[in-house]
Amino acid sequence: MAEFTMELNDEQKEVRDWLHGFAADVIRPAAAEWDEREETPWPVIQEAAKVGIYSLDFYAQQYFDASGLGIPMAMEELFWGDAGIALSIVGTGLAAVGVLANGTEEQIGTWIPQMYGDANDVKVAAFCSSEPDAGSDVASMRTRAVYDEAKDEWVINGTKTWATNGGIANVHVVVAVVDPELGSKGHASFIIPPNTPGLSQGQKFKKHGIRASHTAEVILDQVRVPGSCLLGGKEKLDERLARAREKAKKGGERVKNAAMATFEASRPAVGAMAVGTARAAYEVALEYAQTREQFGRPIIDNQGVAFQLADMRTQIDAARLLVWRASWMAINGKPFTAAEGSMSKLFASETAKKVTGQAIQILGGNGYTREYPVERMHRDAAIYTIFEGTSEIQRLVIARTLSGMPIR
Ligand SMILES: Cc1cc2nc3c(=O)[nH]c(=O)nc-3n(C[C@H](O)[C@H](O)[C@H](O)COP(=O)(O)OP(=O)(O)OC[C@H]3O[C@@H](n4cnc5c(N)ncnc54)[C@H](O)[C@@H]3O)c2cc1C
Repeated sequence: MAEFTMELNDEQKEVRDWLHGFAADVIRPAAAEWDEREETPWPVIQEAAKVGIYSLDFYAQQYFDASGLGIPMAMEELFWGDAGIALSIVGTGLAAVGVLANGTEEQIGTWIPQMYGDANDVKVAAFCSSEPDAGSDVASMRTRAVYDEAKDEWVINGTKTWATNGGIANVHVVVAVVDPELGSKGHASFIIPPNTPGLSQGQKFKKHGIRASHTAEVILDQVRVPGSCLLGGKEKLDERLARAREKAKKGGERVKNAAMATFEASRPAVGAMAVGTARAAYEVALEYAQTREQFGRPIIDNQGVAFQLADMRTQIDAARLLVWRASWMAINGKPFTAAEGSMSKLFASETAKKVTGQAIQILGGNGYTREYPVERMHRDAAIYTIFEGTSEIQRLVIARTLSGMPIR
């Protein structure tokens, strides 16, 4: 186990500074334009691919950092640059993690490179779980995958919604019901290869924030994929379903809501994104408060403003510490006995919403305009309390973990 330290080592500092440079020089200057255009910033993704930031290798390196701080540090810096663009850069990672977590070695080797493409021809991937009637309540999922044994193919029908990169992805990873009797235990994940007939983009959403990130419905109409596209393979699925049926027969385990059971370990990464946005807004507010004069003195000379900045910074640092703790626990295989992953996501996302709002207040009228970035940061920050489990769902997970009670 790596020794606990509050200080990044030289190698980590080097990576952080490199990412910060990219965020400051490439992402930040492009932020307002792509927010207005509400389109995927392909040229920026391409730049990221050229320097090695948009690649599986980069994320794998950060993921396996023994301290656990590689991913949170990377997320904080990129999202400090701009949340919408950064999500366009890291969104493929959601689908890649789905394959890494459940796929066979062959599936990983075949599909992950096609998710990223290369620097001359970048591609993105989408992870499609949410549906119009299955958001927090993932067990209500309706998209159905039926096995056609004669052809060794799966036939998938349904409508997915809110998919980041949905419809524009080269590879889609789709979660579907294979056994409706088993609730979320009867779900399986499928690769939908590029240009598969029957998969189309539905509505593209016009959003409040992170507008440079593409979010859309994905329609699956008689989509046929080879048996080899079932992540993990048929044998493993059959074994898993048999175990779940056995448990259900014994009346044992409650079928858990999958949204609540989603990897406790992945939530700190979203917390780190929120810390990045919060820190960006705080820095703008601090500088503004030091330079803007009213009543013959800088506005930071007033306790009312200075104390807000003190609270903002304290909360951001507290959020980062919760994120780092949970990430350290995850890499060291520590059990999340108090749902520490959810705690970090809950606190960091609520902090980002609050701090970006305070930043607008400190900038006064200017804060309310698109001439200054805090207005965009505030719109962006609202997503952190919604995706990867809403704040209410995080509280539910924490309360259930602490009490052992099936709190509703
Ligand atoms: C920009 C964006 C990108 C996204 N990207 C993806 C993606 O790439 N892939 C994907 O699969 N999904 C994605 N999502 C979906 C996201 O994960 C869901 O929006 C989220 O899980 C909430 O589901 P919902 O929107 O249906 O809200 P609902 O589940 O309908 O919730 C509505 C409200 O009710 C509250 N609520 C619900 N149940 C309870 C309860 N038991 N107790 C207390 N309160 C409750 C919620 O907290 C929320 O405040 C994305 C969403 C957005 C907005």
